[in-house]
Amino acid sequence: MVSSEIKNFGILGYPVGHSLSPHMYRAAFDASGFPNYNYIPLPVQSGKLFMAVEGLKGLGFRGANVTIPHKTMVVHFLDAIDSDAMVIGAVNTIINDGGILTGYNTDVSGFLASLAEANFLPEGCNAVILGAGGAARAILWGLCKKRAEFITIGARNPQKAQKLANDFLPYGQVEGVDWSSDEFKEMLQTADILINTTPLGMFPEVDDMPPIDLNLLPEGVLVYDIIYNPAETKLLKTARELGYPTLNGVSMLLLQAKEAYRLFTGQIPNMGIMARTLEEILAEK
Ligand code: NAP
Repeated sequence: MVSSEIKNFGILGYPVGHSLSPHMYRAAFDASGFPNYNYIPLPVQSGKLFMAVEGLKGLGFRGANVTIPHKTMVVHFLDAIDSDAMVIGAVNTIINDGGILTGYNTDVSGFLASLAEANFLPEGCNAVILGAGGAARAILWGLCKKRAEFITIGARNPQKAQKLANDFLPYGQVEGVDWSSDEFKEMLQTADILINTTPLGMFPEVDDMPPIDLNLLPEGVLVYDIIYNPAETKLLKTARELGYPTLNGVSMLLLQAKEAYRLFTGQIPNMGIMARTLEEILAEK
C-alpha cells in the first residue's frame, strides 16, 4: 500500500555532500510505498550541531543519521541513548518520538550481521583490529558482545590503541599494541579474523594498505576491510592472492542502513533495491 504521509529524514555531517545514504534510503522508501518520505543531506558545521539537533524537533523530522565529524559529540545533545550507543560513545541514528530524541548505533548490528552473512562465528575467536578510531570502537563492542576470546587492537599510535583497549576491559580480553611491534606480529599468528578499520586504501588513495605482513596469518583467516570504495582494496587483493577468504565493507554499510531503516519506519527495507542503488553509485565514483 502507498502511504501519503510526509516524513522527513536526513544525515547530519560535514562535509556530507558525498554521502551515499540519501540515495540508498530514497530508493528503499520509494520501493516500499513511502513516496512522501524525504531524506536529505544536512551539512552542519561543528559549532552548529546543538542547534541542528534541536532543529530536528522544531521541523518535526522523524529521524536522522549522523556521520563524521558528529557521531561522538551528538551524544551530549540527545534525550536518551540506547545501550549499544552508550558503551561505544557514538550515535549514528536518531529517532524523534514526539520531541524526544533517542540515539542509536547501528554500526554494531551492521558489523555483526555482516559476519553472520559471511558465515563467520565471532564467539570464541581471536580477532585482530587495525586502527583505533570510531569504527573500531563499534566493532570492538560487537566482538565483546559475541564473547570473542581475545581481541588485539593494532595501530600506528599505541597510546590510542591501549586507551581503546582499556575502555573495553570490563567487557572482554582486549589489548592495544603498536602494529609494528613483535607482540603484534605474534598476535597475527593466532588470529581467526583480521579487520581493517583504518582508511588506508580508501579511494582515492587506493595504492595504500596497512603495513601488515599477511604471510604471518594462519591459513583460512578471514581478512575483512570495512572500506567499501574501492570494492577490493589493496589489502583485500593481497589477501586474496595469498589464498585468504576476504570481505569488504559493502555488507556492513548495507546492514547498518537496514537497521536504521527499521528504526525509522518499523519495517525491513527492500535490501535488493538498496544494494543495487549502492552498487550503481559506487560504479559511477
Ligand atoms: P576515524 O575515527 O578517523 O579512525 C581512523 C583510524 O585509522 C584511527 O585509528 C587512525 O589513527 C587510523 N589512521 C588514519 N589514517 C591513517 C594512516 N595514514 N596510517 C595509519 N593509521 C591511520 O575513522 P572511522 O570513522 O573509524 O572510519 C574508518 C574507516 O572505516 C573509513 O574508511 C570509513 O569509511 C570506514 N567505515 C566503514 C563503515 C561501513 O559500514 N563499511 C562504517 C564506518 C566506517 P590516528 O588516530 O593515529 O589518526
